[in-house]
Amino acid sequence: MKLQTLQDLFVEEIRDLYNAEQQVAKALPKMEKAAHSPELQNAYRMHLDQTKNQVERLKQIFGDLKLPVRGKTCKGMEGIISEGEELLKEDADPDVRDAGLIASAQKVEHYEISSYGTARTYAKQLGYTNAARLLQQTLEEERQTDEKLTSLAERSINPRATSQQK
Ligand code: FE
Ligand code: FE
Repeated sequence: MKLQTLQDLFVEEIRDLYNAEQQVAKALPKMEKAAHSPELQNAYRMHLDQTKNQVERLKQIFGDLKLPVRGKTCKGMEGIISEGEELLKEDADPDVRDAGLIASAQKVEHYEISSYGTARTYAKQLGYTNAARLLQQTLEEERQTDEKLTSLAERSINPRATSQQK
């Protein structure tokens, strides 16, 4: 039996996240290039820095637990990112595309928030105090990013995409 305990499931989750973050790190520069709003470009750039840091935290967790640093293809993230890329092929008004880019980025964040929440809780229950702390830090960054995207959409991107004077 490969998954015999919660510990095994925890390792699976960390491997999934490690791969997911690498996919995100690759996708963010493409999203930044596709964005029209400088504010949105900036949000992508900032989150790329955070993402690199999040990858380092996961490496630290593998190290602490004396596990090989190894990911496992995250199909969920592949799907979310490929839907986002489909949008980029559409013939879209730049402001409308920005609104769609935000929606796509928030799907990424929500996937991460869900997985980090689970992984953090497992770490706590398994007594991996340091891992739990690192996962909590990343969870908070993902939540902040999500909130920032909501406010950017509501305050500027969606109203611009709504305007008829194009
Ligand atoms: Fe992340
Ligand atoms: Fe993220």
